[in-house]
Amino acid sequence: MNPHNDQRALTQASSNAAKRAAAQTLIFLWKDEQAMFTAPELRAEFAGHYDRRAPLLVWSQDQVVHPDDQGRLSDCLQKLACGIPYIEANFRLKMRTGAYALCACTFTLTEGKIPQHIGTLRVKGTQQIPRPEIHRDPLTGVLTARAFFAATDKLLAQKDRQYCLIRCTVCALKQINQKQGFARGDHLLKLIARFLRRTLLPGAESLGRMDGNDFAVCLLGGPKRALHFAQSLSRLFENKSRHRHADLCFGICTASQNTTPAYLLYDWATVALETVKGSDVHNVAFYDDQLKKLEQDKVYITSHMACALKNDEFKLYLQPKVLIDTGQVVGAEALARWLHPKDGMIMPDRFVPLFESNGFILKLDDYIWEETCKTLRRWIDNGYEPVPISVNVSRLHFTNTDLLRTFRFLTEKYQLPHHLLELEVTETAFIPGWQELLRKMRLLRKAGFALSMDDFGIGYSSLSSLRDLPFTAVKLDRVFVQGECASDRGRIVAKNTIKLAKELKLQIVAEGVESEEQAQFLLENDCHIAQGFYYARPMPAKMFEESSFLRLKTDLNRYQALKKLRAMPLKLKACQS
Ligand code: C2E
Ligand code: CA
Ligand code: CA
Repeated sequence: MNPHNDQRALTQASSNAAKRAAAQTLIFLWKDEQAMFTAPELRAEFAGHYDRRAPLLVWSQDQVVHPDDQGRLSDCLQKLACGIPYIEANFRLKMRTGAYALCACTFTLTEGKIPQHIGTLRVKGTQQIPRPEIHRDPLTGVLTARAFFAATDKLLAQKDRQYCLIRCTVCALKQINQKQGFARGDHLLKLIARFLRRTLLPGAESLGRMDGNDFAVCLLGGPKRALHFAQSLSRLFENKSRHRHADLCFGICTASQNTTPAYLLYDWATVALETVKGSDVHNVAFYDDQLKKLEQDKVYITSHMACALKNDEFKLYLQPKVLIDTGQVVGAEALARWLHPKDGMIMPDRFVPLFESNGFILKLDDYIWEETCKTLRRWIDNGYEPVPISVNVSRLHFTNTDLLRTFRFLTEKYQLPHHLLELEVTETAFIPGWQELLRKMRLLRKAGFALSMDDFGIGYSSLSSLRDLPFTAVKLDRVFVQGECASDRGRIVAKNTIKLAKELKLQIVAEGVESEEQAQFLLENDCHIAQGFYYARPMPAKMFEESSFLRLKTDLNRYQALKKLRAMPLKLKACQS
């Protein structure tokens, strides 16, 4: 391959693409946040992972829009959600090259049986698009992102050849820059690029620097060669940088069909890479069928979540907290369930972690909290003595919302005393912004809301969190009652943890109690409140009310209700989970 010819071809291709994007009006259609059609040029030219989400969501969620224009985009999204029929706006959008292009967009709501949105995008002038002749990274001399995609697409178009696309991230670069200086960081990047250039077959393979600490390689051969390649580079990195091999991560995607564009293979390699980032054990992952399924599930859940919330598919379930020695119900935990019209019940482990990562948990929590308050109000109105309900509070709330205002607003709206709401917070919430967290928690406590530390014992900062934060209760994770109690050492840990919480004057609730023996063990060790399948599985809020767990002003026998439930056939219990 003559590098000059290749360079000229790339320059020409980039220039043509820029002119095309500027001359054309690119169209996209979407309905209910789901893309119905996206102009192929938009997918090819602009950054972002164009899955089933409407392009506006892709721009917002994949950081395609320039940070300074993010507010304008949120404004548009809000107006669209309110049904405003026509909007015009300009945004700077990131191209696949990494540069921003100024784009004029319009969004029109169509009338008709099924309303949908039509979006148009036009690049306003080409001056924002990087000059096409720049297609080599100045530091390392390898191809830039755009040039890499163009070169790789050409390679992939050749029949009868198997390729792997590898994304390689120098995870430790930030740390190296901070501790050893930028010159050292630059030196390492150049070293990696040199190694890669030497290893690759000129003309048959391609190499690009995609971002500050990211390289991409299109490697001839199958997974075996790709793995060997990743291991060799890891060894070199470990020797030269004195960093752990895990500080260099690889995501690998095999290109089995030569019709898949390079940028999509790169996205898939990225999905694989995300699974090993931060791991101390593995630093290489393949995009395989299992990951593909997970990714598809993620896209499925993401594209349906907003509609599901609008259509009331999320339901409030309650699980009782019980006094072990009398069986009296003294509280409940609010848990979300997604009753999908086609897929049936979707459990939180399938959607909560995803919602935590895309921010939708803020909306879901708001909904569950409001449903919880409605339930408490209904109990009071129907003559029951309400028991406190604890709600789960995602860590995102501590950085993004005014929790005190939200809970004050809700309790005022539903006329509820504050002690009826308890906030359950997991330890993972406590890592950044300790002082701010402490301030917010103190304000909540001062306002009379109870605060419970969730999943105690499986995080990292348990003891310091217990010492410093104003908790009123601690929920022992189910490992304490299940796995740990099976061994002598486990029993000692559980026993002393309960003792510690008692001395700190915290209420203790043991989670995951599944047997009489476990309940007995807890009671013997001075833990009096339990939650678990042994007593009852989470159930719809209405069923909780109908199960006579709550004391009517005239009815003092809730214990009977629990006994009745425990005696139910297993099958019936299982339906309630
Ligand atoms: P969590 O807060 O620790 O909730 C307790 C989980 O333990 C629930 O799982 C409950 O069904 C399960 N569980 C209760 N008793 C037993 C038992 O005896 N044995 C076993 N094996 N499990 C038991 P679920 O409902 O699937 O929720 C999982 C997690 O999802 C919750 O863990 C919580 O972290 C999160 N979550 C659920 N609903 C919400 C929500 O509305 N908002 C937020 N932010 N998170 C939620
Ligand atoms: Ca919880
Ligand atoms: Ca828990």
